Amino acid sequence: MANQYKITKKGQYRAKDFDPADTGKFKDRQEAETAMEKNLVRINELQQKLYADGKEGVVFLFQAMDAAGKDGTIRAVLSCLSPQGVTESSFKVPSSTELAHDYLWRIANCLPEKGQIAIFNRSHYEDVLVGKVHKLYENYKWADRIDRDKIIDYRYEDIRNWETYLYHNSIRMVKIFLNVSKEEQAERFLSRLQEEKKNWKFGASDMKEREYWDEYQKAFEDAVNETATSECPWYVVPADHKWYMRWLVSQIIVDTLEEMDPKWPEVDEEDKAEFKQYEEQLIEIVGQSNVKEKKVKDKNIDEKIKDKKNKKTKKEKK
Ligand code: ATP
Ligand code: MG
Repeated sequence: MANQYKITKKGQYRAKDFDPADTGKFKDRQEAETAMEKNLVRINELQQKLYADGKEGVVFLFQAMDAAGKDGTIRAVLSCLSPQGVTESSFKVPSSTELAHDYLWRIANCLPEKGQIAIFNRSHYEDVLVGKVHKLYENYKWADRIDRDKIIDYRYEDIRNWETYLYHNSIRMVKIFLNVSKEEQAERFLSRLQEEKKNWKFGASDMKEREYWDEYQKAFEDAVNETATSECPWYVVPADHKWYMRWLVSQIIVDTLEEMDPKWPEVDEEDKAEFKQYEEQLIEIVGQSNVKEKKVKDKNIDEKIKDKKNKKTKKEKK
């Protein structure tokens, strides 16, 4: 379902063909939210398997213009993940220590272990987005042999190679661009100014960056086209309707984890036989009747909880 937003090769992304206000197959918000809830449950199940399997790690990275809803989307995704198997990193203006290293250094430090999910709030793509729009590299120190005019092209090449290297080493990168329209951004900025609780989200620099809208759109188009591969795809997600954006992101995560297809680790016959012995020993200690009684008790409690939940949702629907 998310495939229509997936970019896997150069030249496939043309901004004008992607409508930020698209709501796909959904008639309304309610439909999307119900589908999203189902996805969050599925993501949680798949994450447990991924962690137990411990063979492959995955990065979901988020890039967007200001006020596209990056933080809220990440919060919604994190809400269904077990903290044990997930890390979140956000990348701000690089510190002097970070600038003293190559630009991928700080990103590499935040990669997931096999079995883990990493969420990146911004990423190495900043270096070909804000870095390109404002030519930030012109202020950095470079060896004399480096041709400054080629830096952005070098970076596209580095990113392609680095992500492929990671893919060959059991880490996938899934890249998500939350695509908000210029009009919707203006409305969101305005509500940040008019609603006191949202004031803190507004920064004067956000208005300054807005003046470079077209340059950013071009930088996104170039970055997506230069770095999209079938192994490490980009998704261009319509972001004018938050409820659609959040559902689509949850769908992208489900699709990715299903494609990774993690398996519960298998127990071999020898271990099974050993487990059987332990089981018998434990039953002797606990007593077979106690085990059965406890199971019945647990089942009764489970059913009561389920009953209560059903009654609650029925009430809410009314
Ligand atoms: P956000 O806007 O993501 O919610 P924020 O407003 O809380 O974050 P900011 O400090 O405004 O915090 O966001 C991070 C800023 O850091 C952005 O303006 C981003 O462009 C900038 N940034 C991130 N990585 C780099 C980089 N490699 N080079 C230059 N600037 C960067
Ligand atoms: Mg900001």
